[in-house]
Amino acid sequence: MGEAVAEAVGERFRELYGAEPEGVWAAPGRVNLIGEHTDYNDGFVMPFALPHTAVAAVSHRDDGLLRLHSADIDAGVVELRVADLTPGSDRSWTAYPSGVVWALREAGHELTGADIHLASTVPSGAGLSSSAALEVVVALALNDLYSLGLRGWQLARLCQRAENVYVGAPVGIMDQTASACCEAGHALFLDTRDLSQRQIPFDLAAEGMRLLVVDTQVKHSHSEGEYGKRRAGCEKGAALLGVDALRDVPYAELDAALERLADDEEVSRLVRHVVTEDERVERVVSLLEAGDTRAIGPVLVEGHASLRDDFRISCPELDLVVDTALASGALGARMTGGGFGGSAIVLADVSEVDTITKAVKEAFAAAGFTAPRVFEAIPSAGARRLV
Ligand code: ADP
Ligand code: MG
Repeated sequence: MGEAVAEAVGERFRELYGAEPEGVWAAPGRVNLIGEHTDYNDGFVMPFALPHTAVAAVSHRDDGLLRLHSADIDAGVVELRVADLTPGSDRSWTAYPSGVVWALREAGHELTGADIHLASTVPSGAGLSSSAALEVVVALALNDLYSLGLRGWQLARLCQRAENVYVGAPVGIMDQTASACCEAGHALFLDTRDLSQRQIPFDLAAEGMRLLVVDTQVKHSHSEGEYGKRRAGCEKGAALLGVDALRDVPYAELDAALERLADDEEVSRLVRHVVTEDERVERVVSLLEAGDTRAIGPVLVEGHASLRDDFRISCPELDLVVDTALASGALGARMTGGGFGGSAIVLADVSEVDTITKAVKEAFAAAGFTAPRVFEAIPSAGARRLV
């Protein structure tokens, strides 16, 4: 990724807007290695950046106009006035970049417009965070062009606000922070309470391993309502236990907490997932920092079982990926992302990758499921300026 992409995106910018862009920026999609549904419980997550990126060629404007174009959406150039941007008013793709402009202005930064052309290789709607990539690349470009001096985590906060308030999607802080802050060859250990973070070595190639992403290409339609229910259930659990967030329930005190929740079977299950998941993140961090990458496999499998049985957000397609991969020699596998579809990840020795990929594809065909997309996820760089 680099010069050729930047050149192509810059060339299209020239065709659209009749001038050189002032710069070209990139921001990646992400995969969450472990730490699922912990972010809205103030807990831990551990994403890494994909080589797939949203790329933006951008120039600033002084006349209050915001012009937006995406190579991937057949809608031409959309022209808006920055002063007119209103949360909730836009249901199309332009809400993501517009929301970033809105959030920056609302935070007191004087933005007077921009010309933006975007092109992305992050698959949309696959749970790999194409939306955060779009937001972060725009935020980084404007940060540079308007000399705002904001740090990666600050940009991530503003992008989250854009998505929560302007787009209207109740997402946590993980995706934007991953896109803004990840480093190549590392996973990002992020405490979603205070945004403290640590880069954890995660260089699979050096150790003869690969991480596959299996995009099931399904999105079960009830996913949004179910997300809301899980979130409300976690809040209820925290309230019943008298803590600010489930993050505050120590793993060592889980049994006692579950005893107090014995009357509410559903809340008990949700609490057990969140508290054990935070502990799994910490275990994966310790293993990776000790150089024992292979040993994270079983922890991923435990995480999947917890999401399937306690949090109940898996689906037949995701379970089939995990079961088939493990039966074909994978070191570990789990669903990743919000659930009810999207993608699963598989950790495997290089020598097993072809066998596992073939077995998963055959199992999907035999079950009558849509053919999955399988690709290798190399822990890659976070958002950056290309030109
Ligand atoms: P995810 O972030 O998991 O990929 P979302 O539903 O959060 O899924 O975001 C997908 C939306 O982001 C798309 O519906 C579209 O509005 C926007 N989007 C993603 N990629 C692009 C792109 N290349 N160009 C324009 N809009 C995009
Ligand atoms: Mg998204």
